[in-house]
Amino acid sequence: MKIPLVDLKAQYESIKDEIQAAVARVLETSQFILGREVEDFEEAFARYSNARYAVGVNSGTSAVYLTLLALGVGPGDEVVTVSHTFIATVEAISWTGAKPVFVDIEERTYNIDVRQIEAAVTPKTKVIIPVHLYGHPADMDPILEIAKRRNLFVIEDACQAHGALYKGKKVGGLATAACFSFYPGKNLGAYGEGGAVLTNDEALATQLRKLRNHGGLGKYSHEILGMNARLEGIQGAILKTKLPYLDRWNELRRRHVEEYNSFLSEAGVGLPDEAPEVRSAFHLYVIRAPYRDELNAYLNEQGIGSIVHYPAPNHLLECFKNLGYKRGDLPVTEKVSKEVLSLPLYPELTLEQIRFVSETIQSFLKEKSRPRSPAKTALS
Ligand SMILES: *Cc1c(COP(=O)(O)O)cnc(C)c1O
Repeated sequence: MKIPLVDLKAQYESIKDEIQAAVARVLETSQFILGREVEDFEEAFARYSNARYAVGVNSGTSAVYLTLLALGVGPGDEVVTVSHTFIATVEAISWTGAKPVFVDIEERTYNIDVRQIEAAVTPKTKVIIPVHLYGHPADMDPILEIAKRRNLFVIEDACQAHGALYKGKKVGGLATAACFSFYPGKNLGAYGEGGAVLTNDEALATQLRKLRNHGGLGKYSHEILGMNARLEGIQGAILKTKLPYLDRWNELRRRHVEEYNSFLSEAGVGLPDEAPEVRSAFHLYVIRAPYRDELNAYLNEQGIGSIVHYPAPNHLLECFKNLGYKRGDLPVTEKVSKEVLSLPLYPELTLEQIRFVSETIQSFLKEKSRPRSPAKTALS
């Protein structure tokens, strides 16, 4: 049995006719960049997330970068975030010229440890970026409280959390702005690159619309220094077609998480947790495993597409060595990065596949824990 980490083809097959009609609409109107389909999607995605404005951009990385630029973040500023995240969060901060300042995570949810934020805030801090990692929303209320008291902006990195809830409210409308990625493997994925920023702040939305389009709203209008970071028409049409399925797909992810949890309850691995105040979007199913690297290699050999998110924390990456962090600075982040393992998870996964993955893990760990009986004793 071959079980990939995600199966984009299976999802495409389930909505093929609608997708082909959507793509055909764009081809017929030839609105390949921004245009009607992108505007319709922006409106639908903002409404879905209870945010006032959505600005479609060409990736999640651009979403974070442009939002920071729009808020005036640059050299001399500091942005507080986590090291246990996809590199894009930290890249985006770095390209503004601001300095990323890392806070450790809490071990249960893998999200920013809100008790440690205040100690990381200095007079140079402008923004806090909590990352809703693996689809599990960060604990936003204490973050927003600190931000209010210290006069900081908060940007949700919601690139892995489309449709997740925090205290009954959709992520995306909880802070100054929220950034989404529509990379194909995300819970809401384009068929190419894509991203969006949500905000309730009209001036910020307008600034973002200019930044993504060479500094102006119309052709050859260049009011500010911008760039090209526009969402394509075909991606807008595809995303608009897929959005109505998002909640159902997230429900299926949740069901598969429960199935994994019951199959793996006695396996000797750590299972994912969900804080009582949230409803995770379960972008990934992440276990904590002994012999993690060996297990990962074994699963891959058996045709199972497990992978590590992420093998090295950002503060220890070569490209960020200028930030001056060293091993031991973020103990929970460093511990977790040695133990986490993501198992295949996507809405179309079957119970049989989940059972196979779980049994393969169990047989590997059983073999590992068998006391080694040296040949000598066997003979005596
Ligand atoms: C995917 C992702 C991004 C970047 O999105 P791209 O669309 O790939 O640029 C940023 N942050 C997090 C946490 C992500 O998972």
